Amino acid sequence: MVRFTVLASGSKGNSTVISGGRTRILVDAGLSCRELFRRMRLVGEAPETLDAIVITHEHQDHVSGLAVTARKLGIPVYFTEGTHRAWMRWLTPRRQMTYSQWLELCRKQAAEREAEPETSAAEGPVEESDPEEAEADSQPQANGHVQPKNAEPGPAPASTEPPSLKEDPTWLPAVEYFRAGQPFAIGDIGLSPFTIPHDAADPVGFVFSAEGIRLGFATDLGYIPPNVREQLQNLDLLLLESNHDLEMLRDGPYPWAVKQRVLSRVGHLSNEAAAEFLSTAYDGQAAYVILAHLSENNNLPELARLTAEHALLGRASLLANRLLLAEQHQPLSAISF
Ligand SMILES: [Zn+2]
Ligand SMILES: [Zn+2]
Repeated sequence: MVRFTVLASGSKGNSTVISGGRTRILVDAGLSCRELFRRMRLVGEAPETLDAIVITHEHQDHVSGLAVTARKLGIPVYFTEGTHRAWMRWLTPRRQMTYSQWLELCRKQAAEREAEPETSAAEGPVEESDPEEAEADSQPQANGHVQPKNAEPGPAPASTEPPSLKEDPTWLPAVEYFRAGQPFAIGDIGLSPFTIPHDAADPVGFVFSAEGIRLGFATDLGYIPPNVREQLQNLDLLLLESNHDLEMLRDGPYPWAVKQRVLSRVGHLSNEAAAEFLSTAYDGQAAYVILAHLSENNNLPELARLTAEHALLGRASLLANRLLLAEQHQPLSAISF
């Protein structure tokens, strides 16, 4: 049996459990370990049976419980190398700087990068938090007292005694790298990672497959480029971002700069953009369509649902598309195949 359970979805934390055959994986760990375990038990998933954690990108709402959860369960974490490096940087020295020190460093680095005149000033410094939660959730991370260390990635220490979180917040029981465009497997689950346009180091979406069932997974993307359109076909389940209503975002409370980031080609997918995909490029095959990563400030569940419903109306196989909304504060019931 294949099971798909969204534990949380939104700018305050994202995590999903996928189980197929004898394998069970957690996709993103954007809640505290305690809360992840609580929600898993709530939906009848035993945390200790997880085999691995897979990370889509390093934004806080996708990794905030990562280190503690991986350590507690002693399971490997799968990243792209770029995401792993970015996550480690996020947890190490740069977090120790004041913002002005960091800006100064960015300026110096930019000056040194004369060989790359193409660098667009509009991109500005790379920020490592999501445009959404940068505004919505400015709490400091629990590791404010992290010991600075060399941020170079390397093999996990062979010692049987892992360093404490305080000694090394980046230590994980095991790290495995994958690359977008290169399918791989974790036990009985096949994973096809694909690049998505988002302001993170190396963000990916996935098509998961097990027992002949295909699950598409794409949140945190500014728009749907052709490579993503191609991936999100022939699915039994499609989880797609429907982050904001354009009008609500434009008229909403976010500062102009944050609005620009959310709206940008590397921001988040609007209800309208999701609908555009559903009404045109999508093949209408999935038994379930789950709208995900809904903004609590710039969207309304009913609005997201109506927009998607309207978009799906034109699809021949409408009856196949059971529409669900993933939630921030409680898990969605498991979907089984
Ligand atoms: Zn996110
Ligand atoms: Zn993100």
